[in-house]
Amino acid sequence: MAAIDSLVVTINCQLCLGDGVCCDHARETFELDDDGSVRVRSKSTDERGVIIQAARSCRMDAISVIDRATGEQLAPCHVQTSALPDEGAGSVGRTGT
Ligand code: SF4
Repeated sequence: MAAIDSLVVTINCQLCLGDGVCCDHARETFELDDDGSVRVRSKSTDERGVIIQAARSCRMDAISVIDRATGEQLAPCHVQTSALPDEGAGSVGRTGT
C-alpha cells in the first residue's frame, strides 16, 4: 500500500499562497496547476515522512494530514485532535516514519 493511502491529505485553498513549497518537498504528492492552485495527486510514491514534512513546510498551515487509521492529526503539527489522549501527546517531533 502506498503511504498516501494511509493518510487523508487536504488543502485549504482559502489559505494557500500558491508558492509551490509543498510541491518542491513532495513532488509526487502535491501538484501546482497553471492557475496557481495546488492539488493532491490521487496516486503518489512519496514516503509517509516526506508527505508529512511537506505539509509541515507550508507556512500558511494550509495542508492537513490525518492518519486514516488512527485519526491523528500529523500536520499542521501544532493542531491537536480529539483522537489524541492528552494535550501535546504525540504530534510534535514525530517524523511519521
Ligand atoms: S506550501 Fe502551502 S501555501 Fe505553498 S503552495 Fe503548498 S499549500 Fe499552498
